[in-house]
Amino acid sequence: MRKFAAEEGLQLVHIEILQYLSVSNRYSNTTQVISEYLGQTKGSISQSLSHLQEYGFIKRTQDNNDKRVFHLSITTKGLSVAERLLDSINLDGPEDLEPALKVMLATIQRKNGLRSFGTCLSCKYNQNPGKNLFVCGLTKEKLSTNDVKKICKEHEPATSTSI
Ligand code: SF4
Repeated sequence: MRKFAAEEGLQLVHIEILQYLSVSNRYSNTTQVISEYLGQTKGSISQSLSHLQEYGFIKRTQDNNDKRVFHLSITTKGLSVAERLLDSINLDGPEDLEPALKVMLATIQRKNGLRSFGTCLSCKYNQNPGKNLFVCGLTKEKLSTNDVKKICKEHEPATSTSI
């Protein structure tokens, strides 16, 4: 990722933010949550966000209900960087190791008091009242088929090992 960032003329943290915003849902796109996800201070993340906004990789939108909250979203330009990142890294590995790896990672997160940041599909709050119909049991809001594939700060594993 560091090599890819250099090739794009960006810093590693910029790439990490773009990758995160390309896969996170609407409850998880604030400066605070990005700081938590990347394990960095809010101040340092804020600087990186300003840079990304200035160069058109992301945009900032005020929350409709709480004017103190701003949501960050990835632009088409930012998304193309995140897509190039995926193309540049070969993440294929032995499929038979994947379940054990997931259990190990979930255990480490749990033991260290970290959020699981999983997708709705493995969350205990995810309700599925009909075909392709999803509702978040925590926020009571409807989720689209695209929403349920995104990672979320409120995620709670449906089982003790799922992420
Ligand atoms: S179902 Fe879980 S993961 Fe999905 S939006 Fe609700 S809390 Fe987040």
